Amino acid sequence: LAPPAPPSAATATHCPYCSLQCGVRVGAAADGVHLEPQQDFPTNRGGLCSKGWNAGSLLGHPERLTTPMVRSVTGDRTSPFRPATWDEALDLVADAIRRSQGLHGADSVGCFGGGGLTNEKAYALGKFARVVLRTSAIDYNGRFCMSSAATAANRAFGIDRGLPFPLADIAKAEAVLLVGSNPAATMPPAMRVFEEGRAAGAVHVVADPRRTATAATASLHLQPRPGTDLALANGLLRLALSEGLIDEDYIERRTMGFGAVRAAVTRYWPDRVERITGVPVADLRRTIRVLGEARSAMILTARGAEQHSNGTDTAQAFVNLALALGLPGRPWSGYGTITGQGNGQGGREHGLKADQLPGYRRLADPADRAHVAAVWGVDPAELPGPGRSAYEMLDRLGTADGVRVLLVLASNIAVSAPDVRRVRDRLARLDLLVVSDLFLGETAELADVVLPTTQFAEEEGTLTNLEGRVIRRRRAIDAPAGVRSDLEILRGLADRLGLGHRIDTDPEVVFDELRRASAGGIADYAGITYRRIEDEQGVFWPCPEPGHPGTPRLFADRFPTPTGRAAFIRVLHRSPAETPDRRYPYVLTTGRITGQYQSGAQTRRHRGDAEAAGEPQAELHRDLAARAGVADGDVVELATRRGTARFRARVSGDIRPDTVFLPFHWGGATSANLLTSTALDPASRMPEFKACAVDVRRIGGP
Ligand code: SF4
Repeated sequence: LAPPAPPSAATATHCPYCSLQCGVRVGAAADGVHLEPQQDFPTNRGGLCSKGWNAGSLLGHPERLTTPMVRSVTGDRTSPFRPATWDEALDLVADAIRRSQGLHGADSVGCFGGGGLTNEKAYALGKFARVVLRTSAIDYNGRFCMSSAATAANRAFGIDRGLPFPLADIAKAEAVLLVGSNPAATMPPAMRVFEEGRAAGAVHVVADPRRTATAATASLHLQPRPGTDLALANGLLRLALSEGLIDEDYIERRTMGFGAVRAAVTRYWPDRVERITGVPVADLRRTIRVLGEARSAMILTARGAEQHSNGTDTAQAFVNLALALGLPGRPWSGYGTITGQGNGQGGREHGLKADQLPGYRRLADPADRAHVAAVWGVDPAELPGPGRSAYEMLDRLGTADGVRVLLVLASNIAVSAPDVRRVRDRLARLDLLVVSDLFLGETAELADVVLPTTQFAEEEGTLTNLEGRVIRRRRAIDAPAGVRSDLEILRGLADRLGLGHRIDTDPEVVFDELRRASAGGIADYAGITYRRIEDEQGVFWPCPEPGHPGTPRLFADRFPTPTGRAAFIRVLHRSPAETPDRRYPYVLTTGRITGQYQSGAQTRRHRGDAEAAGEPQAELHRDLAARAGVADGDVVELATRRGTARFRARVSGDIRPDTVFLPFHWGGATSANLLTSTALDPASRMPEFKACAVDVRRIGGP
């Protein structure tokens, strides 16, 4: 590292983790790297959570990969890794791609991306897949994260932007219903806007099967059974109708399709909703009065509501409720979803999804294909069609019509995919697994070729946060010798495949191309430049031309649908794919804890953080624990239809007595996803991470 520099000389960039993308300053210091929060960045205003404070410990980490690695015996994954030169590693991958595509066709090579990739990398990976590899096999881990809410928002509003208003607007809403979200643990600096709202008199209702740190701050905590939020939303809409709280004028002027929804929700009478959800009728009434009588109100959902086989319809039901109350487009009001991953929003805007091109253009739409093909300088007919969704691609790895050579960037699928034992088995069938990573994580350990890549403070680029604000990631320190950026890796492969001129390695050049590709699309970045982002603390898309101010708030006058109106869509409750029975009598749900992020590949390596070194605990209600003869700290075995896994029990009164909670940040034998279900939402293809049937058995004492 360079000699110590005062903090004022440090580079302004952003935390590498969640979608809040807190502003930080990073610079060299006598004892390593100095990282501190930006005081004036709007989403964190001087705050950071423990993940952000500890992110600097990954820079200069002793486990950091600094050279490509290949297996000592090619094709034998039991043989140890050995260091390789970049030329050797990239030649090996390019040869395998050519061989596989020659024998099995273009779609035998696939790409799996991640919501941590910058916009430039996400765009380049999508282009690499479609133009260099000409494969339809590309998707990303955002399919496991935001896809249900994105699908619902597109159906209703014609656009999918997590929050259609700045985060700060939450502080001004008189009422907030937060469903399946725990920002006090996942993004603590965001809690300031909730605290400011409550200090000003706002009433907050939190729906969560657990009494989380967020639920503990609310005026009212609803504890629905996992997988029943759709019935909760429909029940609230029925109550809004019966109590005269819907906004008839708004429905008439700004929406369509309410009649079918009105008819559908009549069957969600309060007693029935209480039976399905477990939420008392009195709490249902109180909630709808809070929302319906406030001058401004927000309904916010997150993964707790969305990661279900009915996740799209559940998000849709809350959108219906918001529309019926006349919220979207009203000041300090609306429906939003709280994105999880750092660039989960940008990742799906720029072509990482199996069915989408940059700018949210669709691969199945001829005009969309023609626009993007013109920017890429190819014939639209050469572009492949839509491919399989993330889990469906993984489940067919190594099969006759599946992917045989897989490139994985910014994703740890050997931990984060559902039924991960099965996915690890599928990965073992591949002819070649190539992983780009910072460390030898669980997926890299299974690979044939591992390529060391740059991390947040070593690279330039942009990300798009949970508000739709496009922000700048800036290089604060040099990457270790031997490490390359993902753009350089893609370019190195494209060179070897004879199409190097298609992939640029300068992030700003890639961003300018991305702007042209997105121009005129829904996620229009045409007017956004690196200079503007720096001058304006980020720019909100859509921003269709250089003089455009950006769009912090959507829907004030119209919705970006063909009619300008938002669409109600009739949705009906259906149970999770698995419900408790005699053999598996409880519900298993999964989620995040404060000190960890996603698969934990980075946060488990944080130095100086006790939680980083911890272990996952299964949270049980004291009544369930008593029935199973389990005491706090005992080892329990959890069994689902996928198999078993053992955890230490944490007994509390903060969870429903029929529900078990597991954090999903660990791999190996304590991976929560050894147990989770692969049931998919029919529209979004989101796996049902948040509900499956489970049994609990005591194994031993502490
Ligand atoms: Fe901020 Fe999220 Fe990073 Fe925590 S993890 S510091 S909330 S961006």
